[in-house]
Amino acid sequence: MVDLATLLLHGDDEHNRVTDVAPPINVTSTFRYDNNNLVPWRDLTSLECLDENPVYSREGHPNGVRLEALFSRFLGGYAVCYSCGLGGFLGAIVHLNPKRVFMDQCYHGVQGIVGILKRNYGVERYGLANIEEYAQEGDLVHVETPVNPFGTSLDISDLARRAHSKGALLMVDSTFAPPPLQNAWDFGADMIMHSATKYFAGHSDLLSGVLVVKDKEVAGKLKEDRIYLGSNIANLESYLLLRSLRTYDLRIKKQSENATQVVNYLNEHKDEYPALNKLYHSSLQSEDFVKKQLSGGYGPVFSLTLKTEEQCKKFCSSLKLFQHATSLGGVESLVEWRAMCDSDIDQCLVRVSIGCESATDLINDLSSVLSQL
Ligand SMILES: *Cc1c(COP(=O)(O)O)cnc(C)c1O
Repeated sequence: MVDLATLLLHGDDEHNRVTDVAPPINVTSTFRYDNNNLVPWRDLTSLECLDENPVYSREGHPNGVRLEALFSRFLGGYAVCYSCGLGGFLGAIVHLNPKRVFMDQCYHGVQGIVGILKRNYGVERYGLANIEEYAQEGDLVHVETPVNPFGTSLDISDLARRAHSKGALLMVDSTFAPPPLQNAWDFGADMIMHSATKYFAGHSDLLSGVLVVKDKEVAGKLKEDRIYLGSNIANLESYLLLRSLRTYDLRIKKQSENATQVVNYLNEHKDEYPALNKLYHSSLQSEDFVKKQLSGGYGPVFSLTLKTEEQCKKFCSSLKLFQHATSLGGVESLVEWRAMCDSDIDQCLVRVSIGCESATDLINDLSSVLSQL
């Protein structure tokens, strides 16, 4: 096994179909049948043959195949790509068909999907504290860690043990700390999801999601469902995401180191910022499991609370190197007054997504605005 940096550049070499060094963008929606070898659908033994001989791009297309080959090696399982992170979560939940879902604070869209299932099909939703009381065989425990918007960690091993003791499965949303920062397989996850829109894409210019499973047959079923859910990743996005992954190892390490330095600085100088209430980040947690779980480095998102909403507005609009926008994971640093998109969260909370700028410059920008609030 080669190092991650090498794998990200060569993990899909076997799927080079042409002599182009950069993979071509296939804009086509449909592909000609091979008139010398016409196998009707009824005789297909597996959908894998679509990888070699694409038919229609909702089912699969060349750069999607390359992407899944690369992600499968990189993420240690069988990867299935989607049009966005939520497409992946929906694919998982349609496949697993749980009667009960257990989750706490997590991405609002994930909660939205469970809300739809509850409304339409009576799926029950409980908090993580209720696993022992209500969980049964085939139920789903969903945990996002580090968790949005705080960037703090929950103990995956503990949740895996609790879920498994009831016959339930554990899904981990690892978007905030993808490998090599955190490898959720090591702690008992049954399925892992990522919004690839964030760190994997890394340039704030595409949407996509990836689900990783340990069982090839399950991956096959997810792909089959994906044909009918219409949630395959698009052609152009697969090309862009492949291109992004070539530099992912460089980006994520830099972003993780930057964030750890920034949080450390702000925490050590917090007495100089009268408006600052509290800082949230995994690097500030003292529990033993946190360092073990984030063995490759802390996630690049953290949050802080200020004393007033006015200070939040001023802070977000005065920074020079942080654009005021939602989302995270890109090479450019972002800041967001979370009240702009979430009415249930602390209305004085600001989320910070650290990019690839110099940590010193980011610290100077944050520190000078914070000290003037
Ligand atoms: C963004 C995000 C999602 C949803 O991903 P999309 O690509 O926007 O559909 C899910 N979980 C987490 C933790 C996210 O940050």
